[in-house]
Amino acid sequence: MLIDLRSDTITKPTPKMLEEMMSPPVGDDVYGEDPTVKKLETKTAELFGKEAALFCPSGTMTNQIAIKCFTNPLEEVVCDEGAHVYYYEGGGIAFNSSASTRTLKGKRGIFTADQLIANINKNDIHNPTTSLVVIENTANRGGGKCWDLSEIESIAKVCKEHGLYLHLDGARIFNATVAKGYSPMQVGSYFDGISVCLSKGLGAPIGSVLLGTKPFIEKAKRVRKVMGGGWRQAGYLAAAGIYALDHHIDRLVEDHQRAKTIETALTKCSFVKSVVPVETNIVIFELIDSVSEAGFIQKMKEQNILCASPGKQHIRFVTHLDFTDAMLDSLVGKLKSFNN
Ligand SMILES: *Cc1c(COP(=O)(O)O)cnc(C)c1O
Repeated sequence: MLIDLRSDTITKPTPKMLEEMMSPPVGDDVYGEDPTVKKLETKTAELFGKEAALFCPSGTMTNQIAIKCFTNPLEEVVCDEGAHVYYYEGGGIAFNSSASTRTLKGKRGIFTADQLIANINKNDIHNPTTSLVVIENTANRGGGKCWDLSEIESIAKVCKEHGLYLHLDGARIFNATVAKGYSPMQVGSYFDGISVCLSKGLGAPIGSVLLGTKPFIEKAKRVRKVMGGGWRQAGYLAAAGIYALDHHIDRLVEDHQRAKTIETALTKCSFVKSVVPVETNIVIFELIDSVSEAGFIQKMKEQNILCASPGKQHIRFVTHLDFTDAMLDSLVGKLKSFNN
């Protein structure tokens, strides 16, 4: 039994999801003629109370399209130093948008309104014009940390006062809504743009949806095309997304419970220095100095368990749809056996 905890992106469609993907009505989406894509876009937009949506191949693409639409060259994006848009998108902000980035030192990916205010450039010819703020919920490098609604509200208020756009990298937004008990609709009201991944915890094989106003999505569609993301009978993939939204949101609590069980087991392990408190489906922990992350990953691999390292001396486990209770028991047993 292979236990793959490297990411929640590794899931494969369930038999029922696959069934939905086999014969949906489809058409050429570049011509705007794929009814299943339209259904997914309408469904997702309504869920978050937004006017319009655009189905794209990846979360990187939806984020980068949003950044392109919300900035002009010579302007600046503000985000946390560990933000996916900055840390994991290959320098795309500079490449795609000719914009610069100001990173904030948040706590587990969460920064404050005061930190934001202190980093908005004044109208001075020396400085790039601040135009966009991006927050990530849940915060991936923050170990799946969720934003409180009140914290989002404070950031949104500052953005309004300073005429800044606010974009949500909501690759794992449903992990946050489920864990915090707020609704997608509540979250949606604060943002100009929202990027939602279907291929993370929701278990679809591919896809991300960008949400916002009608004019924003019209512009986004042009940017997607020029990036090579205009796709044809994408309804087969949209069908998986629709199924995921209907059936795989509420069950995220199971992933969160399993992550909690892993956290508890790790706190009793002699090779663990500390565990980042678990809020959702991501477990990040620090190894004691005598155990390297490469050594640990190799040792786990020999036991058929795959995990990843987000940085020196750190290991990350991500629970997901294809990680079962039997795998959890096996993992906890193996971790115990690693003691001494
Ligand atoms: C995975 C992820 C994305 C998008 O990644 P893709 O692999 O391009 O779909 C964006 N933001 C965060 C926080 C992510 O974890």
